[in-house]
Amino acid sequence: MQTIEKTEPKLVELKTRLAEINDLEAAASLLYWDQATYMPPGGAEARGRQLATLQQISHSKFTESAIGQLLEDLRPYEASLSYDSDEASLIRITRRKYERAVRVPANFMAEFSKHRTEAYGAWARARPANNFAAVQPYLEKTLDLSRELANFFPEYDHIADPLIDFADYGMKASFLRSLFANLRQQLVPIVEAITSQTPIDDSCLHQVYPEAQQLKFTLKAIEQLGYDFQRGRQDQTHHPFMINFSTGDVRITTRVYENDLDQALFSSIHEMGHALYEQGINPELEGTPLAGGTSAGIHESQSRLWENLVGRSLGFWKFFYPQLQAFFPTQLGNIGLETFYRAINKVKRSLIRTDADEVTYNLHVMIRFDLELQMLEGRLEIRDLPEAWNERYRSDLGIVPENDSDGVLQDVHWYTGQIGGMFQCYTLGNLMSAQIFEAALAAHPEILVNIEQGQFSTLHNWLKENIYQHGCKYTAAELIGSVTGTQLHIAPFIRYIRQKYGQLYSL
Ligand code: ZN
Repeated sequence: MQTIEKTEPKLVELKTRLAEINDLEAAASLLYWDQATYMPPGGAEARGRQLATLQQISHSKFTESAIGQLLEDLRPYEASLSYDSDEASLIRITRRKYERAVRVPANFMAEFSKHRTEAYGAWARARPANNFAAVQPYLEKTLDLSRELANFFPEYDHIADPLIDFADYGMKASFLRSLFANLRQQLVPIVEAITSQTPIDDSCLHQVYPEAQQLKFTLKAIEQLGYDFQRGRQDQTHHPFMINFSTGDVRITTRVYENDLDQALFSSIHEMGHALYEQGINPELEGTPLAGGTSAGIHESQSRLWENLVGRSLGFWKFFYPQLQAFFPTQLGNIGLETFYRAINKVKRSLIRTDADEVTYNLHVMIRFDLELQMLEGRLEIRDLPEAWNERYRSDLGIVPENDSDGVLQDVHWYTGQIGGMFQCYTLGNLMSAQIFEAALAAHPEILVNIEQGQFSTLHNWLKENIYQHGCKYTAAELIGSVTGTQLHIAPFIRYIRQKYGQLYSL
C-alpha cells in the first residue's frame, strides 16, 4: 500500500477521512459494549444521548459531499486496478455504502432512531406483561417508517428488497421466497418424522451447573478452537453478542443458566464463530470500510458453522466430553458420551426461536420472514399480527403459543430495527454454513478426524484463507461462488440434516 499512497493522493485523502469515521464508530461501539456489560443503570439516559451524538457525527462526516467528490475523482484510478485489489475494493465498497447513505435524509434517520428507542422501551415493558396492545401503535409507526425507508430506493422489485439489502446485500425477496419455500417443503416432513418418535431425554443438561465452572469451561473450549484472547475477551450479558473495535480487539459475550448447560456452551461457541471471522480479517484493511464481515448471512454462517456443524458434532465431543466430565464430575461422571450427544441435539416442536434446535430453527425464521413481507405489502395489519403469528405456528410447527410473550413479542428485532430484512440472515447463515463446511471437507477430508483430536487449525486456516481475510471485499454471492463453486442452494443443508438426524432418530 506504500507505493499507492505515494502515487494516488486522493486515495490517501479518502483513507484518512474513512479512518477518522471508523474511529468515531469504534468509540460508539465501545460505549455500547460498556452499556451492555458493566454500566450502572444510572448511566442509561446519558449513554443513549452520547451514542446518538457519535453516530450522528460519523454519519454526517461520511455523507459529506467531499467524500462523493473523492469517489468520483477516483473512478479512472479504480478502473486501472484489478477488481479484487485492496484499493479498487476500498473505492468500490465505499461508493456502495456512500450512495446508500446519502439517499436517506438525516432528519428521517434521526426520527427513526428516536422512534426505535421508544419502541424498544415499550417492548421491554410489554413482553413481561404479555401486552401486545401496548406495542401495537409503536409497531404501526415502525411499519410506516420501514416503508418510507424502503421508498428512498424506489427502483426496487419488492418493497422489502432495500431493507433486505442493508443486511444481505444483493439478496431479493423473490429469490428468498422460493429458496425458503423449497426448504420448508423439505423440513416439515422431517420434523413430522422426528417428533412422532419418543423424545430424547435431555435431563442431563438440566442439573445444577455452577456458573463459575461453566464460564471456565467455555473459555477453555473457545481458546482451543482458535479464539485469540490477546485480541479479545468474553463477558456476560443477557443477550450474547460479538462486537469489535478493531481487528485487534474483537469481544464476545455469553450467558449462563445454572440449570441449562446448553446455553453458555453454545452461546460462547456461536459468538466465537462471529469473532473468528473478525479476528481473521487481513490487518491491512484496518480502519477502512473493508474491515468487517461482508453480510449478515455470511456472518451467521460462521457462527453456526462453529456452533452446530463443529460444536454439536459427535467428533467434537469425543475430544471435549472427558474434559467436560472432569469439570462436572458429580453431574456428568455417570452420563455417557452418547447420552450427552443426543441431549444437545434433541429436536422438539418449540415456541422460542433462540432455543430451537437445528432442524426446526429455520421454520421459526421463515414464519417471521413471510410475516414481514405480508406487513410491508399491506396484506397484514399490525392488529392482526398476533393471530397470524399463532396460525403459522400451528401450521408449521404444530404448536401454538399460550400468550404473546412467547409468541409475537419474543424477538426484539422489530422493536429495535425495522420491519423487513431482519430475519432472513439466520436461515441464509444455516444454509451457507452447510455449503461452506462441505467445501472445507472436500478440500481437507482430514478435518473430521482433526476435530476428534482437538485440532481445529486446518478448518480455521481454511476459513481464514477463503473467507475471513477478505473482510467485505467480496459480496456474499461472490464468496459463496468462489468458495463452493456454485451459487447458494439448500441441498448441502438438507444432506447434513438427513445424515446427522437420520442416525440420531432412525429416519
Ligand atoms: Zn449470530
